Amino acid sequence: MANHLLNTYAPTEFSFDRGEGCYVYAKNPETGKEEKYLDFGAGVAVISVGHGHPHLLAAMTEQVQKLWHTSNWYKSTDQEKLARRLCEISFADEAFFTNSGAESNECAIKVARRYHFAKGNEERVNIVTFEGAFHGRTIATIAAGGQAKYLEGFGPKAAGFIQVPFQDWDALVAATKEDCAAIMLEPIQGEGGLRSFDPSFVVKLRKLCDDNDILLIFDEIQTGIGRTGRMFAYEALGVEPDIMSLAKGLGGGFPMGACLATTRAASGMQPGVHGTTYGGNNLAMAAGNAVLDIVLADGFMENVKKVSGVLSQKLLGLVDAHPTIFEGIKGEGMLLGLKCKALNMDVLGALYEQKMLAIPAGDNVLRMIPPLVATEAEVNLAIEKLDIAATKLESGE
Ligand SMILES: *Cc1c(COP(=O)(O)O)cnc(C)c1O
Repeated sequence: MANHLLNTYAPTEFSFDRGEGCYVYAKNPETGKEEKYLDFGAGVAVISVGHGHPHLLAAMTEQVQKLWHTSNWYKSTDQEKLARRLCEISFADEAFFTNSGAESNECAIKVARRYHFAKGNEERVNIVTFEGAFHGRTIATIAAGGQAKYLEGFGPKAAGFIQVPFQDWDALVAATKEDCAAIMLEPIQGEGGLRSFDPSFVVKLRKLCDDNDILLIFDEIQTGIGRTGRMFAYEALGVEPDIMSLAKGLGGGFPMGACLATTRAASGMQPGVHGTTYGGNNLAMAAGNAVLDIVLADGFMENVKKVSGVLSQKLLGLVDAHPTIFEGIKGEGMLLGLKCKALNMDVLGALYEQKMLAIPAGDNVLRMIPPLVATEAEVNLAIEKLDIAATKLESGE
């Protein structure tokens, strides 16, 4: 059927109109009956606290009736509150609020370049990134991501981005020799297929930054806000970045993001040099603050660790049971991936038939990224559905 949407996606035939916890509901167009799907995609790791979490719902309902938006011309106590809380739980001193992940990275890139500019080193503009990266779809962030499939046809690649092979130390050192502003990486590459950096590599890289006045940017848009079993993935690496971008899980479904930085890294920023109309608006801040209330509550992260441990263990069992379909598991916490032997899209199709959602990634991986509130019972159900889907694929159905 012809539609009037820009031809950028290839969506499924089914469509959801309601969600609750780890489930979303679609109406079957033929029978008119409601069908329940287990949501292990969580809107690409966005639905951090589940669909319709009562606390988030209450906070948003209250805010919707009070005030939606005023702009950044006026002091926002809601912004100040969320910024203070994000800084208290991280390395950062300052926050800038955005509407998306790519905008958070745009801000990170601008903060890094302004740092050197303000020190009189305006030639230091290069951002060094790693192969397999995904940093967003804006003109600058596709240059940062460096993937040909996202750059093709969109004109000259933005200058000032250098990409090196994943975890290649010599290439990294060479690339940072000249005019380097920052190194930018995802502690675990999300879209790229859940490839993790070795902590020892990142520790060395942190020292390289310190020795050469290079800023370190972590793109934690996917890994942040509890997704990996820690509040931020960098906590497992033994180093802190100077700048960090967030989005996805932070708004729990409301489109918002943040760029966090130390005072030192942000020293080039001053009124007028960067801004956004919508970023940090009242609705977004209500969402972010409510999500933090939930994930920072006693026991929340312990439960993420416990349930994700069960999930990874059971996924390993599944891999053993279906060696022609799966090869292994990747990732951390509730950012897990099944590395497939069959085509990941075929596995996903079989999973849809079992009324379960997941999200593909690069390197033939199928991501299991449920809401962080998933229970052991939901994990067991997911494994059951995966098992049936794999069995059907094996029998060629
Ligand atoms: C999703 C994602 C982005 C882009 O976020 P958008 O909100 O789509 O702009 C950037 N970096 C990482 C690591 C992501 O996972």
